[in-house]
Amino acid sequence: MSIKQNLQDIKSKIPEQVTLVAVSKTKPNSDILEAYHAGQRVFGENKIQEMAEKHEALPKDISWHMIGHVQRNKVKYMASFVSLIHGVDSFKLLKEINKQAKKESRVIDCLLQIKIAEEDSKFGMTKADAINLLESEVFKELQNVCITGVMGMATFTDDENQVSAEFNKLKTIFDDLKPLHHNLKIISMGMSGDYELAINNGSNMIRVGSSIFGERNY
Ligand SMILES: *Cc1c(COP(=O)(O)O)cnc(C)c1O
Repeated sequence: MSIKQNLQDIKSKIPEQVTLVAVSKTKPNSDILEAYHAGQRVFGENKIQEMAEKHEALPKDISWHMIGHVQRNKVKYMASFVSLIHGVDSFKLLKEINKQAKKESRVIDCLLQIKIAEEDSKFGMTKADAINLLESEVFKELQNVCITGVMGMATFTDDENQVSAEFNKLKTIFDDLKPLHHNLKIISMGMSGDYELAINNGSNMIRVGSSIFGERNY
């Protein structure tokens, strides 16, 4: 199937209020343009350098989401244009994003990445970390970042019960955090293999790559 057909297929399966982030990492600009001409405007990348190059070359009405792990020393390369950073997993990183956003006179929207998977390899904060951050005085003084939600990745397994339970955990954490910070509205969870389970558990932003663009060759 073509990229356009894949997009239409996914769009037809998801509710309107769910934002589809087309994950274009490793894929050429021609693929991104094909999706763009089919109406897609939100794209996700996991490497800052690659995202910056694509931003430079492609139409300026694309919203670029950084979905990968962020190294603090590279935040400056995306601060002028990134529209949402999904993987904020430490206070230090958030402070650096604030600093770079300030230089650009911007407010950058961020999601707190919460660790929901059992696997050790997945990055993320605990619920307690997130509460500490949202309640701290230092956070309240950061004028150039806005925490708009949470992000999580489930364990890579065929066990749907486990994946469902992990997504449900993120939804519950979101519900618990919301009274502390009224800007929270996004729950970013679900990828090609599990976005329907994620939506059933409350996701309103899915990050889908291979089901749109095909398998990646690294
Ligand atoms: C690559 C990636 C995705 C998309 O994965 P697919 O299985 O290709 O849909 C989603 N989220 C993150 C954080 C990723 O790195």
